[in-house]
Amino acid sequence: MDSNEWLKRWNDRTLRYAHRCLDPAHPIAISCDRERLSRFDTQIALLSATNLFGRMSPNVVLAFEDAPINAALPWPGTSLHTHILSGMRAANPFGTYQARDLSPMDFRIHIGRGHEGFVVDGTGWNAYVGPGPSPLPEQRDGNGFGAALAVVVAAAQLFRNPFNQITKPFIGNALDWSDTVTHHEHDFVHAPDIGRIHFIGLGSVGSAALYYLGLATRSFIPTLIDMDRIKIHNLTRSPIFIAADCVDETKYPEGGVYKVAAARRFLNEIGISDVVSDPAALHQSVYWREREAGTPDIVVSAANEHDVRYHIEMGYPPVQVYATTGKNWQVALLRHHPGDDACSMCVFPPERSKIPMACATDHVTVPETGEQIDAALPFLSFGAGLMTAAEIVKLALPGFPFSRARVNLNLRTDPIMTATPIPHRTGCTCEQRNKAVHLQMFTGSRYA
Ligand SMILES: [Zn+2]
Repeated sequence: MDSNEWLKRWNDRTLRYAHRCLDPAHPIAISCDRERLSRFDTQIALLSATNLFGRMSPNVVLAFEDAPINAALPWPGTSLHTHILSGMRAANPFGTYQARDLSPMDFRIHIGRGHEGFVVDGTGWNAYVGPGPSPLPEQRDGNGFGAALAVVVAAAQLFRNPFNQITKPFIGNALDWSDTVTHHEHDFVHAPDIGRIHFIGLGSVGSAALYYLGLATRSFIPTLIDMDRIKIHNLTRSPIFIAADCVDETKYPEGGVYKVAAARRFLNEIGISDVVSDPAALHQSVYWREREAGTPDIVVSAANEHDVRYHIEMGYPPVQVYATTGKNWQVALLRHHPGDDACSMCVFPPERSKIPMACATDHVTVPETGEQIDAALPFLSFGAGLMTAAEIVKLALPGFPFSRARVNLNLRTDPIMTATPIPHRTGCTCEQRNKAVHLQMFTGSRYA
């Protein structure tokens, strides 16, 4: 496959969703405050920015000094430059990814406090994107979620108004998902022990959730369930899929490596060896059908196909955390606890055609064939994964929950975050579910 054909397939979903992509000739240069380069939160920003921008553009420059990776991250002590460049080249072998000094041609994005220009800053739960210097309060190092949120917002701004400076700054936080600064940092536990997690669906959102959770902690026991294989058009929306996972789809239309295999490889790489993976549909997976009461502790339900929500809800799930990407540059984060009034089928009814959807899922129609395909922009999938991982980490914090059960992040205009309750849908199948059995299945799990 030549580079033109590759890039066409690589950008396929972005082109279908937005009918454009970033100018590949315009370099995006990432710079960084030298004195903050060794920090955990700064490196989370650098890792996620280069991963995300490297999948939005084939032309990214590292315009910061090299440093060893922070001891609290996976790959401790490795050169940041080496790790980042090899990662970007693995995701797009036809791109131009390099470390060099800034040039006048570059569009510069600065990670840290900065002085002017396009600044992306995050400390603790807080995020800032706008002209420098960043106004965020100094917080102790160790929590990268504010930094990761800032990167997602910055990527959306860059795509919305390509290669232009930001006129209206964004401030928000990943704790209560409001547009204010939070000073609530004392309870955050670095690298928390999460427990057993079932990842149901390892597509773009599920794999992005795994990525952000893996950057925050290696103390969890994952079970991975997904029957799909990786295709080239998946690469731009997942932080862990690489070109070597793909095949020539003209010869092997079903795709390359199983998504669960790529997820398992990522987990092994970051030091998690106790991984169960099952390339099966949920209703066929013994790891779901024959699981013991009280397990797992959390379900990340990041799949929509094969009536998966029906099989989850009828299987008396534990706490569910997931996020979806919508048609209008929207990410919706959702939580369901056993005993709640609303289940996931209250939000996503099995018979979609009969009930207007509060938040459309990310399907677009192929004009030539009328086929419905999944599509989203890279920063929406990364944002959905980030929000899911942040919410999982909060489950064990005193004071949880910090927001209503549903949080919308809208990136089509100036970024807006809003949190609302999830109402029960009259007539939903969950009305027939036995609450006593559900609570019995939940008893013994970590968040019961
Ligand atoms: Zn329901």
